[in-house]
Amino acid sequence: MAFEGLADKLQNVFRKLTGKGKLSEADIKVAMREVKLALLEADVNFLVVKKFIKSVSEKAVGQTVLESLTPGQEVIRIVRDEMTQLLGGSLSDIKIASNPPTVILMAGLQGAGKTTMCGKLGKYFLKKGKTPMLVACDIYRPAAIQQLKVVGEQAGVPVFEMGQEKPYKIYQAALKEARKNGNDMLILDTAGRLHIDEEMMAELKRLRDEAQPTETLLVIDAMTGQDAVNAAKAFNEEVELTGVILTKVDGDTRGGAALSVREVTGKPIKFVGVGEKLTDIELFHPDRMTSRILGMGDMLSLIEKAEKNFDEKKALEMQQKMRSDQLNLNDFLEQMQQMKSMGSMQDILAMLPGGNKLAGMSVDEKQMARTEAIIQSMTMKERENPGIINGSRRKRIAKGSGVSVQDVNRLLNQFEQMKKMLKQFTGKRGKRRMMGLPF
Ligand code: GDP
Repeated sequence: MAFEGLADKLQNVFRKLTGKGKLSEADIKVAMREVKLALLEADVNFLVVKKFIKSVSEKAVGQTVLESLTPGQEVIRIVRDEMTQLLGGSLSDIKIASNPPTVILMAGLQGAGKTTMCGKLGKYFLKKGKTPMLVACDIYRPAAIQQLKVVGEQAGVPVFEMGQEKPYKIYQAALKEARKNGNDMLILDTAGRLHIDEEMMAELKRLRDEAQPTETLLVIDAMTGQDAVNAAKAFNEEVELTGVILTKVDGDTRGGAALSVREVTGKPIKFVGVGEKLTDIELFHPDRMTSRILGMGDMLSLIEKAEKNFDEKKALEMQQKMRSDQLNLNDFLEQMQQMKSMGSMQDILAMLPGGNKLAGMSVDEKQMARTEAIIQSMTMKERENPGIINGSRRKRIAKGSGVSVQDVNRLLNQFEQMKKMLKQFTGKRGKRRMMGLPF
């Protein structure tokens, strides 16, 4: 899971700091040395680390901290604030052209996740009421055009292509098409190479000069650490980026790229990619990312995710059913599917405070899939009224879902218990009990 090692180490340092009543300058020095090591081990750029530690140290040895009643907390607050600054301070949204179409030029090395990100952005802006069009300017790999078409289709966004034509000419034609069809956003997928080379840069510049993009965004792979940061520096020098998109933040990335790229290039991170699905995209909130890196959880992103995926009307219906004891296995299945649409359980856990501690805890997603299969092997009648599921029905369901009869029994028992528990909590007495009243 992303930033796990770094979060662990920083939490250790913080624990020591808060464990002491008073802090001396020497204590802070020791702590800062540990923070420095943790950042370097997470592959954060050396100069960035040096500057960061200097800035935190200066603030941390100030009178207000040392004389505070909770000096450890004060130091943590300073680290948090400085890290948020390092990540860009505040949200940097995508600029929308006052005179449409908004043109987003996407650059990046091969494999960084550029084509996937074009699809993600297309879907993201489509949901926001825009009418984006993806433009295939990666003309060297026929597979790239095909891949863009696939993600476009998945995202429900049109894709414009002209095979191997020169990218700037493709852009000119795409612009005409967009004007004709009323597309107010063009997302240009360009060619990536394994390494930066002159020809690629020259072509990118030619396209940029033609398109005068509203945003020139570099897609970098967070897993590649300082290599990604070096690429960002080089691209920025050649084509003047307006922002960076960090992908694969869901992976086992150490944090080096995320924490260095803003400081090294001076350009904000605008989005992060957090998985392979087209919905796995998040705006980059420096404060929330800091919370994640410091192991303080990211409750806000989790709540947003839940809001995006949950249907309020359905939630109310569900509540009614719980109260009146009418919950059935279809509802159970639906709940489970909604949970799944929020992403993997591992990802959800990672966003909870201290969630990185839960990383080793295996969430049995296989078990969830099994439960789903069992319910899907039931008839509608059985799902609505589990009471009718007798011995022979249990056998049939077990066979249909490839599990044992015991598995079916276990699920039915669990469901009954859950129903009882929910009824207790949602009933009048339950409400009082939750408020701590004994009657
Ligand atoms: P491109 O060569 O830059 O266009 O990269 P692609 O879009 O083809 O992506 C390369 C690989 O990375 C593909 O297998 C993608 O599924 C995967 N990928 C892209 N973004 C993410 C992400 O945010 N998380 C993860 N885990 N994989 C990603």
